[in-house]
Amino acid sequence: MSDITTALIHHAYVPPAGFAAPQPGVFKASTVLFPNVAAMRNFDWKDKSAYTYGLHGTPTSYLLEERLCTLEGGLQCLLLPSGLAAIASVALSLLRSGDEVLLPDNAYGPNKALAEGELKTWGISHRYYDPMDVQDLAAKISPQTRLVWLEAAGSVTLEFPDLCEQVRICRARGVLCALDNTWGAGLAFAPFDLTPGSDEALGVDISVHALTKYPSGGGDVLMGSVITRDAALHMKLKLTHMRMGFGVGANDVEAVLRSLPSMALRYRAHDEATRQLARWCQGRSEFAQVLHPVLPGSPGHDHWRALCPNGPGTAAGLFSVILQPRYVQAQVDAFCDALKLFGIGYSWGGPMSLVVPYDLASMRSQWPAQLQRGTLVRFSVGLEAAADLQADLAQALLVLAR
Ligand SMILES: *Cc1c(COP(=O)(O)O)cnc(C)c1O
Repeated sequence: MSDITTALIHHAYVPPAGFAAPQPGVFKASTVLFPNVAAMRNFDWKDKSAYTYGLHGTPTSYLLEERLCTLEGGLQCLLLPSGLAAIASVALSLLRSGDEVLLPDNAYGPNKALAEGELKTWGISHRYYDPMDVQDLAAKISPQTRLVWLEAAGSVTLEFPDLCEQVRICRARGVLCALDNTWGAGLAFAPFDLTPGSDEALGVDISVHALTKYPSGGGDVLMGSVITRDAALHMKLKLTHMRMGFGVGANDVEAVLRSLPSMALRYRAHDEATRQLARWCQGRSEFAQVLHPVLPGSPGHDHWRALCPNGPGTAAGLFSVILQPRYVQAQVDAFCDALKLFGIGYSWGGPMSLVVPYDLASMRSQWPAQLQRGTLVRFSVGLEAAADLQADLAQALLVLAR
């Protein structure tokens, strides 16, 4: 099965005897009973050969793990109560006092906050590298570097890095690389097979996914995953996962299982509407720059084109605009307030379009060379009709003419 959508619908599932429904059952448990004391002593909670305790997995959570491996091309999966918890668990598992972690300067903000907060107090240092300069990444890897975070596209500013070259550099230097794959979602590109069809087997070591976004798709679940293709690395991550007591609720797992089969269709719809709106914004004089990797001229467009097959369904539903510097913050805020269909709020991947103005200067160690000066606004495009969203943007822009 070459198509992910087909694979996720026709995924292996064994229903209870005599009840051959294709939709999976939902199992909830803390206690799991053993047939006898000997079995209790013998069962190993570290592998999936037996169920031992609800926190360590149920048929429902195992099924979601398997389907996420199918989606992303991984072999092992851990579920966590949020995307951020998934990010934090990777750091917690792999970093020790004296180690260093590298993050792209456009990394997901709370990942940076973790590095600047807990990791720092635990004696783990961090440095930010320029996501658009592979030489800068190479130069910043030191003997203390244990982990490199990657993001494609980057958060908020959506620069698309030369992901293949970044992974090659980490490989050559023997440093683990973890991709925050929430944007690509397993659909825009294959994180564990970045050079399909070539002899070079190139992939990230770890893919972290905020299932809160497209896999949930409803704006009503918080969950994250950590996917690997290396059994020893997975076991290291899993031991931390178990010792920390991270777990997810069966109702939430069910919600994600229910949404997964429609994920590729939704992603494609988000993508198509986002391209339309981003191109429309490019024609508006209020904006100094429109940031979206599918737009020629947007930072990293060539890298996106090289990695992601052209055509719809290969980019997420996010784009940002930088307003002309003549607009002051109050005007930009008024523009956001004037939008009627774009809710003011964080996150993305759900049915409703959202907008957030960002203070980019406070988020980056230096103003990125490829970006114009001005106030940045990020749009997350939902599943509303694109024409309605475009009309909404047009009416809200009228406040800037006042
Ligand atoms: C939303 C998001 C996360 C975190 O997900 P939560 O479930 O909200 O904690 C991580 N990385 C990226 C890129 C995100 O957009």
